[in-house]
Amino acid sequence: MNIHKKLDTLEKLAAIGDATAYEPAGDSPQAEGALLHGPTALEAGDYLHCVSNVMTPKGPKPVLKGMVTTACEKNCFYCPFRAGRDEMRRVTFTPDEMAAAFDRLQRARIVDGIFLSSGIVKGGARMQDKIIDTAEIIRRKYAYPGYVHLKIMPGADYDQVRRAMQIADRVSINLEGPTPQRLHALAPKKDFDTELFNRLQWAAQIRRELKAENPYAKVASTVTQFVVGAVGDTDLELLGLSAQLYRQINLTRAYYSRFSPVSNTPFENLPEVAPLRERRLYQASFLLRDYAWEVEDLPFQGVGNLELGLDPKRAWADLHLRQAPVDLMRADREQLLRVPGIGPKGVDAILKARRQGRLRDLTSLHRLGIQATRAAPYIVMDGYRPPQQLQLF
Ligand code: SF4
Repeated sequence: MNIHKKLDTLEKLAAIGDATAYEPAGDSPQAEGALLHGPTALEAGDYLHCVSNVMTPKGPKPVLKGMVTTACEKNCFYCPFRAGRDEMRRVTFTPDEMAAAFDRLQRARIVDGIFLSSGIVKGGARMQDKIIDTAEIIRRKYAYPGYVHLKIMPGADYDQVRRAMQIADRVSINLEGPTPQRLHALAPKKDFDTELFNRLQWAAQIRRELKAENPYAKVASTVTQFVVGAVGDTDLELLGLSAQLYRQINLTRAYYSRFSPVSNTPFENLPEVAPLRERRLYQASFLLRDYAWEVEDLPFQGVGNLELGLDPKRAWADLHLRQAPVDLMRADREQLLRVPGIGPKGVDAILKARRQGRLRDLTSLHRLGIQATRAAPYIVMDGYRPPQQLQLF
């Protein structure tokens, strides 16, 4: 490709490629991936590289992961878009152009949803305006009612965060590191407290304000993202902050993106982080968010990392429940949630079946949709340990 040739809109989308794979857009981040895999987008010249299957609150959808610009004045050490990384062609969209491209793809049923991010040129507030303008056009001119997920830029002002939360389904305010020191090691030109953490606090305040004005108002949920494992961050740091955000600012979700080195960046020679670490972090994060666990309950080892070989709920149960199993007939909700194989829906089903006298053995547990053989080593039923195998007949 002649890099001096003027690109049309779809070629520009192709030039973004699947680089926004670094930024999850929905509820199943580990399952997200560009619809088109293989050679780089520039080689393939196909805009489908920036369309990903995303689990949205309205179900799985093909979502356009767009960027207002892939140029950036910041120098985050892990990022393919960092300033001075000369090998990539930078592309910039006007709000009209990006919105029109989305509308075209959406009408062709190629996408149903947009995640919109950007590099930073002349400040985060300026880029936030462009992101919001694009979303306004999508909502107003093209009357699109579906999934819109907007990135909040470092340094965005209060009114911008408020407007983004009114027009989007979800906003991302990415902390990247779990402490100011870790963020500094990852992204020396970003400020943890004054550019990012306080925006998360604003989001909580804005949600309260908008709901007070109109209890039925649609207000975007808030998510954040961490880059995991490049600068010595521990699981304890990541999960400790996640727990605080779940409790204090009503965070919907923390994303944990394992570090993967990008060529021609200061971190290009650092080792890739194992996928299992990301998986364990998500499992532990769900325990904090959905299972009423405290950070202190998580079975950290040594300097504060989770065991890679075992899911954290099972590791905890091996330590605490093998000798003191939970009585399924008498345990309360919180105790039931501690048992491997039993989740919030399973607890509801057990409590209902218990009231109706329908809970007798592992097979009846299995019929409730519970992973009965997983739970078996950690439970008793009416004082007896159930056999570890399901009775099939
Ligand atoms: S501000 Fe964003 S786009 Fe720019 S270098 Fe940092 S992570 Fe990359």
